[in-house]
Amino acid sequence: MRKVSILIPCYNEEENIPSLYEAIRQLMDNNSQYDWEALLVNDGSKDRTLEMIKELRRQDKRISYVNLSRNFGKEAAMLAGFDYVTGDCLVNVDADLQDPLEIIPEMLKYWEEGYDDIYARRLSRGKESFLRKHLTKLYYSLIQKMTSFDMLPNVGDFRLLDRKCIEELKRLRESERYTKGLYCWIGFKKKEILFDRGSRQHGKSNWGFRKLFGLAVNGITSFSTIPLRISTFMGTIISIYAFCHLAYFLIKTLIYGDDVQGFPTLVILILFLGGVQLLSIGIIGEYVGRIYNETKHRPVYIVREYEAGEDEKKSN
Ligand code: UDP
Ligand code: MG
Repeated sequence: MRKVSILIPCYNEEENIPSLYEAIRQLMDNNSQYDWEALLVNDGSKDRTLEMIKELRRQDKRISYVNLSRNFGKEAAMLAGFDYVTGDCLVNVDADLQDPLEIIPEMLKYWEEGYDDIYARRLSRGKESFLRKHLTKLYYSLIQKMTSFDMLPNVGDFRLLDRKCIEELKRLRESERYTKGLYCWIGFKKKEILFDRGSRQHGKSNWGFRKLFGLAVNGITSFSTIPLRISTFMGTIISIYAFCHLAYFLIKTLIYGDDVQGFPTLVILILFLGGVQLLSIGIIGEYVGRIYNETKHRPVYIVREYEAGEDEKKSN
């Protein structure tokens, strides 16, 4: 019998856990042609999430969990999940039930047909602010242009991955992670399913604008060096312009003599150049920072406890 793992990263999800469990229990019971495992990764929750997960595990041995030593972020929690799932495939879902579990049987059907990565593409994005919706759209079109492979828009982490994909994802251990891009980068035979994304059941999204902005910058800098090229390009254009200007003023001064004029122009030029230079340094800095973080070779996450299968605790 083939085994399917459900991977659920959880950060402060105590309100969602009961209905989450109810939903996955139904899913597991209704599809008993598979062996099931639900791996919950507790990403350093500050509420009762961990206790609730442990309680569920006492009732149902199909539940297993990894408890991280602190909050490492969703991207790291997912890598922990990839490392610890034992199934022949995994389905990645959010703890807040924004992803409709009803389409998982359809995903499994395509998996049986031989697809490796069955991803769900959002038709609508649930309740979100106008600004967030439009910024997301702009971002996706930007990143699409900057990468050399297909970066799928409106596709999140809700997907079924075959063991082949899991093994490849496990080899990508960069610490500045942008998993959405990694799924596309590894390739494999993909299949799309369309769905409507619901709104969060309880609590607030853990992604504030600051975190999202960080993720967006991460997405671009992890997969593209085009921003560096843009700053080189800007630098070249401005240098050429400055050179022409210089020649113009030199000749003008030689012919008509020197009268001090054009102070505002000077100020504007200085400010403009200063701005461009700072921006370019900032862009370079983003990359240097990433190089610095990667060279430390720190593990992406640290595990405090892991329990799975019928056995007792495996590590502490
Ligand atoms: N999450 C996590 N660590 C974090 C933030 C979020 O494991 O630091 C989990 C969270 O519990 C949820 C999933 O990642 O299961 C998606 O989080 P959220 O609903 O906040 O994100 P959104 O739906 O807004 O993308
Ligand atoms: Mg959510």
